[in-house]
Amino acid sequence: MTSTTNARLTQTPAPASVATPAIRLIRDIYAERRAQGRPALSFEFFPPKTPKGDVALFERTLPALQTLQPDFYSVTYGAGGSTRDKTLAIVDRIQREHGATTMAHLTCISTSRLEIERYLFEARAKGIRNILALRGDPPLATGSEQFERGFEYSYQLVEFIKQMGDFSIGTAGFPESHIACTEGRHVDWQRLKAKIDRGADFVLTQLFFDNDDYFTFRDHLVDTLGVSVPITPGILPILNTGQIKRFTALCGATLPAALATKLERYGDDADAVADFGIELATHQCEALLAGGAPGLHFYSLNKPHAATQIVRNLALRD
Ligand SMILES: Cc1cc2nc3c(=O)[nH]c(=O)nc-3n(C[C@H](O)[C@H](O)[C@H](O)COP(=O)(O)OP(=O)(O)OC[C@H]3O[C@@H](n4cnc5c(N)ncnc54)[C@H](O)[C@@H]3O)c2cc1C
Repeated sequence: MTSTTNARLTQTPAPASVATPAIRLIRDIYAERRAQGRPALSFEFFPPKTPKGDVALFERTLPALQTLQPDFYSVTYGAGGSTRDKTLAIVDRIQREHGATTMAHLTCISTSRLEIERYLFEARAKGIRNILALRGDPPLATGSEQFERGFEYSYQLVEFIKQMGDFSIGTAGFPESHIACTEGRHVDWQRLKAKIDRGADFVLTQLFFDNDDYFTFRDHLVDTLGVSVPITPGILPILNTGQIKRFTALCGATLPAALATKLERYGDDADAVADFGIELATHQCEALLAGGAPGLHFYSLNKPHAATQIVRNLALRD
């Protein structure tokens, strides 16, 4: 963080926060759940691209997930700011209509500090108290010029948000190491620790299918690097074979060969794949919680059925 940044932060007037009492800091939610010995439950959405998608999210998905009494929701952000206003609008609407703590994602790639600062002030003015601080993925034709105006890595964004003082900050972690890290997983995990050292209160992980990857990652962070913040597994229930192949290829997560073979056997039977995905994720979550995971963060893909069924199978809520 540069002194220029500090100067701007102190010179820019901060709008008053309008947080409603029900909206909580996620670090406090995790602390409370830990004290209760109960896992925190959260669901992630992406901003729908169409009015029909908005209706589905607000009239079907959210009411269904609300019955599970989640601890918080989160809403993704298009890298480079493509969903900037929509992300904030959806977080705001969920918080106002449901009184449910909801976190706004924010990426820093190809974005100026001024734009980031404006987003954070706007978030604060809407009573948004939680930010997932990310780098985002660089556009394909990338070069150092992409980063001239803003931050290159998310630890710098974490540091910047921390200076604003009143947000709980989440960060991304990669049990199989980040796809672009060529120096090995321990280097990537050391960089995750740098994000925590600069102010991240909790980690949400990339999807994975082999729980050993999560436990090795968590144990290294806790036992070797001395990390004490919650490290929550990100769970993607498989809904569709083609889709999961694409997702894992994009983010660098492993689709184990035995799992891929099983999925192939279901062929075009979409219902069978989805049922199998629910069963698989239920077992995965059971083992994660038994191994001490502090919560479960579901990539809902804006669909309620799989996540609802998994949470019911796990008997996590009354
Ligand atoms: C839970 C979760 C939610 C997500 N939500 C979104 C979203 O809403 N929108 C979106 O666009 N993307 C999202 N992503 C994807 C994420 O933006 C990408 O995976 C991105 O490539 C990495 O983001 P990061 O914040 O981990 O980056 P960083 O922490 O900056 O790391 C990126 C790479 O840089 C390396 N690195 C870090 N620090 C240094 C350093 N000092 N020197 C050299 N190399 C370094 C790391 O090893 C890694 O390879 C999400 C990912 C997760 C796990």
